[in-house]
Amino acid sequence: MNTNLLPADGPDTIERAAEIIRSGGLLGIPTETVYGLGANGLDPDAVLKIFEAKGRPQDNPLILHVAGPEQVERFCHDIPDAARTLMERFWPGPLTLILPARDVVPRRTTAGLDTVGVRCPATAVTRGIIAAAGVPIAAPSANISGKPSPTTAAHVLHDMDGKIEAVVDAGPCAVGVESTIVDLTGQTPRLLRPGGIGPEQLRTVLGALEVDEAVLGEVAPDAVVRAPGMKYTHYTPQADVIIVTGGREAAARYILRHLTPEDRVLCFQEELPLYPEGTATAYGEETRPETLARGLFAALRELDRADIRTIYARCPSGGGVTYAVANRLKKAAGFHVVKGDEEP
Ligand code: AMP
Ligand code: MG
Repeated sequence: MNTNLLPADGPDTIERAAEIIRSGGLLGIPTETVYGLGANGLDPDAVLKIFEAKGRPQDNPLILHVAGPEQVERFCHDIPDAARTLMERFWPGPLTLILPARDVVPRRTTAGLDTVGVRCPATAVTRGIIAAAGVPIAAPSANISGKPSPTTAAHVLHDMDGKIEAVVDAGPCAVGVESTIVDLTGQTPRLLRPGGIGPEQLRTVLGALEVDEAVLGEVAPDAVVRAPGMKYTHYTPQADVIIVTGGREAAARYILRHLTPEDRVLCFQEELPLYPEGTATAYGEETRPETLARGLFAALRELDRADIRTIYARCPSGGGVTYAVANRLKKAAGFHVVKGDEEP
């Protein structure tokens, strides 16, 4: 298959892309979070192709992308007021809501669950494609399973060239990490995955918000988890990733004591002068967390090389999108964290 690159502002892009979805094909879609691998979310055969192209386990559900809140009623029932308030406040935007699924949603899309994740993306061309196709687009991130999510059309082609019909190119993603996921099917809303919308922002609307164990730490492979995707290894380059905590200088001293020619440092822009030339890659500025979110996956992809043995990574701490950046980095590291200012 020849994979076409469709510019977001091309005169016939929306129509061509919508036709791919309607005819059961696979399409790379831009969103403000990361690029998605989309198919008709109501067609089990089309959805199966997503799992095959990614090498994704079939117990890991997909998110249904809709053109607006008014479409949610078609796919979900028993929608609580809290969900409506969140849609009003944060859609279109990087927030996925888990709600009870109607029978029209194939169980292949939900990985057998009777709930479904729905989201309305901020990227206008993608909402246009969904509206023109007349069906919701089921999409996970458009990476090979386990690898960092794609934040440019070039990343999508790197993983999916020849396996999908086209990718719509809208430039680099504005947020850069996947959507925040909130489960609204229980007593209290529950954060299943941090993302572009921070927990504090959610609490201003919801009041109470529980945080799932999968967000906080490692989940055993055989665990029954509410966020099925969270038990799998994610965002992993070939090298071992080790997070080094502590102040800038102390962390640099620790890293430089351990650094060999096969290792690399993944750090903040402000820290580059602390490391010898050619050893460190900056993924953004610590003082501008949104740049860390936009740059993290591209940097992990750049460092995904067979000749790199260990990546010593610096991890931000804080709320908002920083919370999501720290979560992705810890998952890439398999929660391997060392204290730069204490350990030898
Ligand atoms: P991805 O965008 O590639 O990270 O994949 C979508 C993620 O959404 C999955 O890994 C799940 O964690 C989450 N998700 C989708 N639907 C549901 C659902 N019904 N219940 C819980 N989590 C879901
Ligand atoms: Mg993914």
